[in-house]
Amino acid sequence: MAKIYAGIDLGGTSIKYGLCRADGSVVNAHVTASKANESPDVLLAQLADCAHDLISEAEEMGAILEYVGLGTPGTVERDTGRIVGISPNIPGWEKTNPKEYLETRLGIPVYIDNDANTVALAEYLFGAARGFSDILAVTVGTGVGGGLILNGQLYRGAYGAAGEIGHVTVEADGEKCNCGRFGCMERYASATKLVSLATNYVKSGSEKSLLRKKLDSGEKLTVGDIFGAAYEKSDPAALRAVDFCIKYLSIGLASVMVIIDPQLVVIGGGLPDAGGDRYILEIKSALREKAIGPGTAQFGVERATLGNQAGFVGAAMLNTPA
Ligand SMILES: [Zn+2]
Repeated sequence: MAKIYAGIDLGGTSIKYGLCRADGSVVNAHVTASKANESPDVLLAQLADCAHDLISEAEEMGAILEYVGLGTPGTVERDTGRIVGISPNIPGWEKTNPKEYLETRLGIPVYIDNDANTVALAEYLFGAARGFSDILAVTVGTGVGGGLILNGQLYRGAYGAAGEIGHVTVEADGEKCNCGRFGCMERYASATKLVSLATNYVKSGSEKSLLRKKLDSGEKLTVGDIFGAAYEKSDPAALRAVDFCIKYLSIGLASVMVIIDPQLVVIGGGLPDAGGDRYILEIKSALREKAIGPGTAQFGVERATLGNQAGFVGAAMLNTPA
């Protein structure tokens, strides 16, 4: 019987979890609505239920899990499993210790890490970054997350907060961020910003737009609407909003790249899913313009390949040698 690994990817809106093999192939996958807004206690109990499901499923297959991996928003003190940094999408989460709770409930070891780190690990082991050693993995969705692989190792920093690239400052005295600071990249490059900008551009009437009809009927725009209008119809308002977000994303990423000099930037999440290859290419050309030195001109920019399973697959691999 081949080894089976279990991972859980906790998010503010959903929990994705499943079993996979040592080669990253997914054996089964589940998604359930996250009870993040109820209370930390309810959420911990929900995570234990997810883990119990996985343990039972593995047993039915004749496999015994050695541990369960968990990817969570927030900064994680890895040895103790305490959440030490704020996770704005999960109220009260910073006071919990999911590792201790789950180990007591499950009776097997639990390994825990930041969710962007588990995504980076999965893309490094099995996805777009396979074969590279120095990687900046970026997730651009509701927020902007990041994980670093340096010298073939997940880089967590001294206190577990490395790679929080969504909070690189891109605008001095800029908009207030959920983290409490101002001008963070996340405020300027995320899906949240893209939708609000496009909505404002269309409503203000400063640009003619195909999207006006949808807004006039009382519906909200999606990132799919905006990229469709921008890249398929050259809609001016949609293009302006997309270009704005790419500009700020590239400002933030370029700053990080000056420091780590990666071979590859891997970009996943809701924006590349909607914007496709053109979104990636435009980021690449914006980053090339900002590159310094001969080494930095050689980096690649690729779209993540593991989709929304990357989080739990990476969590499942947290205690494998990598
Ligand atoms: Zn911030």
